[in-house]
Amino acid sequence: AALAPIQNLVINYGVYQGVDKSQSMTIICDRAFLALKSIKDNYEGRIAYYDDEMVQKHLRERMLENDFETAVRNRVFVVYLQPKYNTRTEQIVGAEALVRWKRPDGSIISPGEFIPLYEKNGQIVKLDDYIFRLVCSIQRDRMKNGQVLFPVSVNLSRASLYYDGMIERYVKIIEEMGILFGCVPIELTETASLYNEQIKELTEKLVETRFQLHMDDFGSGYSSMTSLNMLPFNVLKLDKSLVDYIDRPKGQQVVQYTIALAHGLGMKALAEGVERKEQVDMLRKMGCDGIQGFYYSKPQPGDSFQHLLEEDMPV
Ligand code: C2E
Ligand code: MG
Ligand code: MG
Repeated sequence: AALAPIQNLVINYGVYQGVDKSQSMTIICDRAFLALKSIKDNYEGRIAYYDDEMVQKHLRERMLENDFETAVRNRVFVVYLQPKYNTRTEQIVGAEALVRWKRPDGSIISPGEFIPLYEKNGQIVKLDDYIFRLVCSIQRDRMKNGQVLFPVSVNLSRASLYYDGMIERYVKIIEEMGILFGCVPIELTETASLYNEQIKELTEKLVETRFQLHMDDFGSGYSSMTSLNMLPFNVLKLDKSLVDYIDRPKGQQVVQYTIALAHGLGMKALAEGVERKEQVDMLRKMGCDGIQGFYYSKPQPGDSFQHLLEEDMPV
């Protein structure tokens, strides 16, 4: 019988040119494979060559992975705080903790570079744990010093949420520090909150335990209407990509209805990535509760954040 022609067959090539024959076969194959892997999400090209840029990227990623344990031990991961403002009063009502890697030479590596890597290899669980503890200790110190308390939210990846005994471990940290659950809300990204039975159980348990849950990056890609429907979030964070189009007629409708949806479901709405005054004005008109973005402030190291706070609330 004649073979049916294979349809939609796609062949990708990873090429390692100018091979140094003295290298081992494993290295040669690894490099071609590395080139091949770079094609994955690129529908245009089907051939990728192992080149210098790829080498640099690969080396940097290995460095970020290999140095992780030492970095945690040496406490070089720090948090920057970005204030969240009440839209009406324009006063600081909270902050988000965003991790940064401080290199010995003073340079800063942003989470966009290492978080996706650690999400892939599982190191994220340890990092999230570390950052959560760090933020709790910041809140404990503020409380001890009689400073104004406000919620500082912490980002959690899907892997951290699913890790065995996560809730018990985080509760223990909070108890050890003697702070209130409301001091450290948890931000889950859409991917982390995509609806399934396991996440439903976990998030319900978190809320029963009195954690506050914020849905991060709403509108950034993955469909999450089911998650909104089924999961117990307190705050809906409108992604920057929605806010960016707020001054176009359709974009305006989307933001307006998303805010109404949040309110209808008993959540507060907070807009992320707000950069311009016109956006602030529109969000205020639309009844958005909170705003976070470069218009007011970039994420700041702890001491600059404190200055900001003192300017904001003169005591
Ligand atoms: P995210 O949680 O959605 O945080 C908001 C990001 O948008 C931050 O980037 C912030 O600096 C940036 N941003 C805020 N306002 C503006 C604005 O007006 N314009 C623009 N262009 N950007 C703005 P950052 O700090 O680079 O963090 C990137 C992402 O890395 C975060 O997105 C979060 O998903 C993840 N991340 C950060 N820290 C942690 C952490 O401790 N654990 C986990 N699992 N993820 C983290
Ligand atoms: Mg966040
Ligand atoms: Mg976000």
